[in-house]
Amino acid sequence: MNITAKTKICLVIGDPIKYSLSPQMHNAGYKALGIDDQFIFVASHVNISEMEDFIKGARAMKIRGVSLTMPHKLEVLKYLDEIDPVAKKIGAVNTIINEANILKGYNTDWLGVVKPLEMITNLTGKHVALIGAGGAARAAVYGFVKKGAKVTIFNRTIKKAKELAEEFGCSYASLDELEKVKVLDIIFNATSVGLHSEENQTPLPKKYITNKHIVFDAIYSSFETRLLQEAKEKGAKTIHGLKMFLYQGTEQFKLYTGHEAPSDIMKKVLIGNIKTI
Ligand code: NAP
Repeated sequence: MNITAKTKICLVIGDPIKYSLSPQMHNAGYKALGIDDQFIFVASHVNISEMEDFIKGARAMKIRGVSLTMPHKLEVLKYLDEIDPVAKKIGAVNTIINEANILKGYNTDWLGVVKPLEMITNLTGKHVALIGAGGAARAAVYGFVKKGAKVTIFNRTIKKAKELAEEFGCSYASLDELEKVKVLDIIFNATSVGLHSEENQTPLPKKYITNKHIVFDAIYSSFETRLLQEAKEKGAKTIHGLKMFLYQGTEQFKLYTGHEAPSDIMKKVLIGNIKTI
């Protein structure tokens, strides 16, 4: 480590935070580019009721960049000086940049959704089944619509699906209508079904998955979710939530440092660490 008095601090905040892989991922990138004397990335457990104090502290300490994870992405909006138009449209901020003590909020989650997909398909004209209507779904629907895909939002609480669909000019349906996904191209799970205590759950019955689908699960866990396992069994192409995490992170890296992120190295670090969670 080459930390000096000139080293700039970036950090991730969340509640909980101890499982975050952002420090390992960003620090590996700094080291790979030989800029680990200029930047260091740490993590801090910040409770949602402490957000105002955190922002005051970040200003006072001239923190360079902040990554935000659950439950902070909405709460932070009211404390920022500026919000990038994309983050405003998505309605959530996962990145703060401090430029001359002006704190500006960005959202890079949508790039974490579209980048891995664009590596294997062209999104224009594709029909996406988006399951979920929470924060991750908001970033996803923004990305899909921007890239010219057609989206149908399926959600447990139909009112939320309707509101999100109307805001972005999409269709919506209830979870009872999931059979409709059979004829769609891409399935994106933006629910928490399949995470931790629900490890053996899936948001979508296996019988609706075909070998023509691309199935992307936003959940990034040390294991493969049941949804992805079943999609593989059906011969579908699959994308692990780790890729979403990686590419939202590589965009943050660029905002923090001004350098293109060494994504291969950052990916290797994530894969290496995920086994230890
Ligand atoms: P959120 O805002 O709380 O939304 C949760 C969504 O899951 C809602 O649509 C909710 O439906 C649905 N849901 C929860 N339990 C359900 C159940 N038992 N049955 C059916 N639907 C259920 O959460 P979020 O921030 O969008 O996160 C969603 C997932 O994305 C999480 O697993 C998170 O870890 C993941 N994520 C991954 C990345 C990444 O980089 N890979 C980034 C962000 C988020 P209702 O509206 O009916 O409550």
